[in-house]
Amino acid sequence: MFLPTTNKEVEARGWDELDVIIFSGDAYIDHPAFGASVIGRILEAEGYRVAIVPQPNWRDDLRDFKKLGKPRLFFAVTAGAMDSMVNHYTANLRLRSNDAYTPGGKAGFRPDRTVDTYTKILKRLYPHTPVVVGGIEASLRRLTHYDYWSDRLQQSILATSGADLLIYGMGDKPIREVAKALRNGFNMKLLRGLRQVGFLADKEYVERLYNGKTIVLNSFEECQRDKHKFGENFKEIEVLSNMMECETTLVERVDQSYVVITPPHATLTTEELDHSFDLPYERAPHPRYKGKGDIPAWEMIKHSINIHRGCFGGCSFCTISAHQGKFINSRSERSILAEVKRLTQMPDF
Ligand code: SF4
Repeated sequence: MFLPTTNKEVEARGWDELDVIIFSGDAYIDHPAFGASVIGRILEAEGYRVAIVPQPNWRDDLRDFKKLGKPRLFFAVTAGAMDSMVNHYTANLRLRSNDAYTPGGKAGFRPDRTVDTYTKILKRLYPHTPVVVGGIEASLRRLTHYDYWSDRLQQSILATSGADLLIYGMGDKPIREVAKALRNGFNMKLLRGLRQVGFLADKEYVERLYNGKTIVLNSFEECQRDKHKFGENFKEIEVLSNMMECETTLVERVDQSYVVITPPHATLTTEELDHSFDLPYERAPHPRYKGKGDIPAWEMIKHSINIHRGCFGGCSFCTISAHQGKFINSRSERSILAEVKRLTQMPDF
């Protein structure tokens, strides 16, 4: 079964409540190449009741954001497989006319700066329910960053969106820990103890963090005044991302708050990576898209096999090594061959 996207599908599963609701800027394709599905299936395998709301309409009366109500644990928000600004605009800042992650390849089904827009709407409608953001857009914008489209530095997405927590990099491990930490209700103390997350804190909290394992980056305001300060931050972040074992916490002041980024998890083991790929995906777009045209990203990926994550390359234009990490992380032969077998049995192969 696909993860539910409507109340009718939630009822068909016999659920009277949801634990987690994922909002995604992409169409829902149940396949291990699409992040929202992976996160949904991982949580489902842990026994949580999860639904996905793909490409909600943010311009009407917000019925897509209200239709499933509020979850018991948290909302999860992702812009999708791409940063929404890369998805929307060419390098010449021209509006793109198509979107590879939408049925029929149509553009216009997600807002600019999707994470900010979805999170602000959810926080307005459900101020007491935690919102956890993740995926490429949240991950790569977690600290002060240069934004090509506005040609200026932007603050951490934690400050601009109002999210309670950010997961950076691949979320397989942290999402399980976040769900566990929130199992008995919102507990910021437990969340702040997790690895591979980011959050906003006050001065009193970060002063307790100042020890040999903390790097205090130049603040957003200092970076705005002096581009060399931003260069120093970039170097620190890049050096840390090349460490096999990292225990360093990053702190960066923005306005009167501080962004705290906890150290990453070690790279997934082969068994852990196999688990993400072996989950019971339908390997197809959700049936709601029948008759709405092909989804170009699905047409490209459906007969392909992903055998590893990570890249040592670090090419400046590419998100793979910045998001997935610098270390290669391989699936087992057994897991890959099992997927090859399933793929050859697809009717259109
Ligand atoms: S383009 Fe990306 S995936 Fe390819 S080598 Fe460079 S960093 Fe790695």
